[in-house]
This record gives sequence, C-alpha cells and structure tokens, in this order.
Amino acid sequence: MKRLYVGVDLGGTNVASALIDEDGNVLARDKRPTLADQPEGVTVRQIIDGITEAARKGGVSVGDLAAIGIGAPGPLDPFEGVVLAPVNLPNWGKVPLKRIVDTKMGVPVVVDNDANVVAVGEQWKGAGREVNDFLCVTLGTGIGGGAICGGKLLHGFNGNAAEIGHITIDYNGPRCNCGNYGCLELYASANAMVRRALERIKKESPKTILPRSGKLTSQMIFEAAKNGDRFAIEMFEETGFFLGVGLVSAINLLNVEMVAITGGLANAGDLIFGPVRRTVLERGFPEVKEKVRIIPTQLGEDAALIGAARLAMEGGVRS
Ligand SMILES: [Zn+2]
Repeated sequence: MKRLYVGVDLGGTNVASALIDEDGNVLARDKRPTLADQPEGVTVRQIIDGITEAARKGGVSVGDLAAIGIGAPGPLDPFEGVVLAPVNLPNWGKVPLKRIVDTKMGVPVVVDNDANVVAVGEQWKGAGREVNDFLCVTLGTGIGGGAICGGKLLHGFNGNAAEIGHITIDYNGPRCNCGNYGCLELYASANAMVRRALERIKKESPKTILPRSGKLTSQMIFEAAKNGDRFAIEMFEETGFFLGVGLVSAINLLNVEMVAITGGLANAGDLIFGPVRRTVLERGFPEVKEKVRIIPTQLGEDAALIGAARLAMEGGVRS
C-alpha cells in the first residue's frame, strides 16, 4: 500500500487540508475557516479537525498517516516547527505548532513557511519539475518567496531565506513592518497597488472607470485594466516594473533559471508578466537575463498542499 500524508495550508482566512499519496495524488480534501479572530487554540482545533476529516474522507484514519506537513504564515522556525506571531494570525504569539499537532495526533509533523511549501510543491509536481534552481514568488497582500537551489529548498541558518518581499528597492522609502525601509512588498504587492491607485485618484483625478471613493480592490483594478482603462493598465505597469526591479536583485543573487509567480496578482497574466519581463531584460545581468524564464506557477492553490505533503515525506528540515 502507498504511504499516505496530509498536507495543510494554513492561511489567514481558511485552513485547507488534503490527503495525498506518495506519488503526489490528491485523494481527499477539507477546507474550513481559520477563525483567526479567535484565540489560537480555536485555530489549532480547526487544523486538527481538518486533518482528521481529510483522512476520513479518503477512507483512512489519522493513525494510517506516515506524516503531516503544514505550511504556515511566517515568520516561523521550520527547524523547531514554531510559528512566531504572523501578521495574519493576530492572536498568535509564539506557537509550537509542530509539537502541539504531533502530540495530539501521534503522527510526525513538519511545519514550514507557506511560500516555501509552494516552491516545494511546484518543484515536485508543477512548474519547477524540470529545473534545479528556481524562485517561487507569492504575490498577494504581501510578497513571499521560496527558493530551490541545486534541487534543495533554501532555508538559511534560521529558516528565513528568500524573503524577497523585503529586498530594498528604495533606501529612502517608507518603513516596513520588518524594520527595513522601502521593501519590495511596499511597492509590488496587491495592497501596495491599491494604496498607490487610491492616492493618485485622490491627488490627480485621472480619467478612469475606477470608483473615486469607497472600497477599491486589486480585482477591480484588474477588471478595469482588462476593459482597457488606461489608468488601471498603468497601475499594473508600475507594479510589474517594481516587481521586476526586485526580481533582478533576487536573480542576480540566486542565479535561478526560472521565476514562477503565484497569488492574486499573478492571475492578471500579461498585464503583470509583461512589465516584469521587460524590466528584467532591461536591468538583468548579461548572459543571465535572456535565459531566465518568468512564468506563472502551475498548481494554483494545490501547490501548498502538495508541497507540505512532500516536506512531510522528506522528514522536514534537520534541527
Ligand atoms: Zn520589509
């Protein structure tokens, strides 16, 4: 019989779990709310119930699992499996998630950064199957990164490698949550694009179909850009340019042959990939920039689940 794993994707909104076999096939799924506004114990209960339910739907019990992998928002310590007060789990302090789930379920558990598990999932079954050196970028409310170098997930000495959202692109820029100034995340995330659009609408009253007051989302900017709204297209141009500037630094540092981008803004296709690729071609290292492929990921939301299961299969990181 094939060995079975559960991969978990812990997000600020939902906890997704999937029963996955050793070949990477998804056999059963569960999704339930994270309940991030409640005490951490409530969310931990959701994780445990989700794992149990994914196994049950697949016709097995938790005791039949070889291991469990959890992708969680950073910052975290993947060596000890401790989550360290992430922004989108506001009620969490320092939570030893690996130890808690391991003790409750009696199955080995690994915990790693959500962007890292996406990279591992894409390496195993998605866009990174054929390459040994690539960077996976999650472009959502923030910007996350996971790097595969020489076929291995890059962790760094305490598990915080490839935080590309915090590459400085303006040393005089605004202060970031991380303590640095002018981080890429403040310019090229979905939140940053919305913030910039709102500022310009207020200051310059540009010709646009976007609302001048009330709620504005990156999805609304995307819809407007698809309909030919020049201001909305310009917002994507700018965001893609900033992302390209950051990626040039990441590419020069890691010498990856591919950058795979996922997350909300990546769904905008050429609107975002066009300016990113142009910027990398304008600014990248000769002999490198022409060869680096910048493409969307292939697995969508399954990347995190499959990657978490893969890390569980490999036994996680050695402490
Ligand atoms: Zn930062």
